[in-house]
Amino acid sequence: MRIVMKFGGTSVGSAEAIRRVAEIVEEAHREHEVLVVTSAMSGVTDELERAARLVPRWTEEDVKNFVGRIRRRHVETVNEVISSNLIRREVLGHVDSLLDELEKVLLGLSYVGEVTRRSADLVLSFGERLAAPILAGALRDRGLEAEHLEAGEAGVITDERFGEAEPILPACRRKAQRTLVPMLRSGKIPVVTGFIGETVDGEITTLGRGGSDYSAAILGAAVEADEIQIWTDVDGVMTANPRLVPDARTVPRLSYDEALELASFGAEVLHPKTVIPARAEGIPIRVKNTFNPDAEGTLITAETQPTDEVVKAVASSSDVGMVDVRGTTMIGRPGVAGRIFTKLGEAGINVIMISQSASESNISIIVSEEDVREAARIIEREFVGERLVDRVKAYEDVSVVAVVGEGMRGTPGVASRVFSAVAREGVNVRTISQGASEVNISFVVSEEDEAKAVNAIHSEFGLGEGS
Ligand code: ADP
Ligand code: ASP
Ligand code: MG
Repeated sequence: MRIVMKFGGTSVGSAEAIRRVAEIVEEAHREHEVLVVTSAMSGVTDELERAARLVPRWTEEDVKNFVGRIRRRHVETVNEVISSNLIRREVLGHVDSLLDELEKVLLGLSYVGEVTRRSADLVLSFGERLAAPILAGALRDRGLEAEHLEAGEAGVITDERFGEAEPILPACRRKAQRTLVPMLRSGKIPVVTGFIGETVDGEITTLGRGGSDYSAAILGAAVEADEIQIWTDVDGVMTANPRLVPDARTVPRLSYDEALELASFGAEVLHPKTVIPARAEGIPIRVKNTFNPDAEGTLITAETQPTDEVVKAVASSSDVGMVDVRGTTMIGRPGVAGRIFTKLGEAGINVIMISQSASESNISIIVSEEDVREAARIIEREFVGERLVDRVKAYEDVSVVAVVGEGMRGTPGVASRVFSAVAREGVNVRTISQGASEVNISFVVSEEDEAKAVNAIHSEFGLGEGS
């Protein structure tokens, strides 16, 4: 088989973790062709994001301190994880030249005093670009033939939407077939940077936070892999976020649709776009735990596996905001929702959910939290001077909860069980989504009620350990 193995930030977050990863890769490589995709070491992308935001106000010394910290973490890891002097020197050489480049980039930006989306992507790219040679070095240190590649060399060719770039799939396939496939066939292990891509002009882009999973799927489709494995720090996709629900369990099987819904509504374990190339090519996705490799994990395929319960999992996210649009004269006027969608789309704001009350006097739009104020301004501007809209209000302190399961299709009474369970906990439901796919019921609550709502549904449908 040909397998893509993607390792997340925690999985490559320390020398000890990287050693485990190397063992897992070695084991798989005994039987399979293996393509490795790596994230940045945990926390590094957050640090780089902070640098990209603050650097216009930084002095030269601030820049040097920052790069020094990043350097220490990576150099210490290399020294701990690679025992061969030769390989260590080579890897340290790569790490050093990347960090020199990062320092130059940051110094440049501190002088210019402005960071564009394009230069922010360049700054953000360094986490994965540092991690790939270290992981490849750790594999070579065990006697495996491994080589690190940057996304552009490997075949993640994207458009120019910096910060949220989309792959140009035929170009990805052409490149990957030329570079990666011959390596795989000869038993080499390519170690590719996740999260980043390259435009046809050779400029670095990023696929959006958490995007390394997406990289794995893009490359999996491009090399016609038999399986895409997402190695992370939990036993698979679980019945709820284990940080909110202590007795959450691993879900053994999910359909692509179920996985897409869960990921879109906050199950961070999988970047939602990962499902798209995998589904298009019919490649199974397997989610596994680097720190517990014997656990079976979650297998995601086109088939659904019915369970006794119609609901399989609950996802939630507080990373959203809600714009509430009110106006009694909206009644019977077609096209208001359409105009809102169009305007927000033009501004590049992604609408996660929209709901309209039966009386049509109010429309609620859920967008990401960082977009909510801008979204409200855009809607206000669109309807200014028309008496259609009386009030537009933005709320940041809300969470969206999504209840997911293919078994909900056509099963009556699920919604009433969901909302009764939530009501019993005294949680007020602010809005319910309308017209979403039948494998998902989603609704909005105040952020402070998120955990309560999720736990109420989790126990109502017997999803927990020992239920
Ligand atoms: P990685 O760095 O490996 O990409 P992430 O932090 O992006 O890992 O995703 C894994 C985390 O997702 C878990 O540690 C867990 O806290 C969170 N998570 C949220 N919802 C779920 C869920 N339904 N199942 C599993 N993990 C979830
Ligand atoms: N390192 C990137 C991030 O933290 C991508 C990823 O981990 O998937 O967002
Ligand atoms: Mg992730």
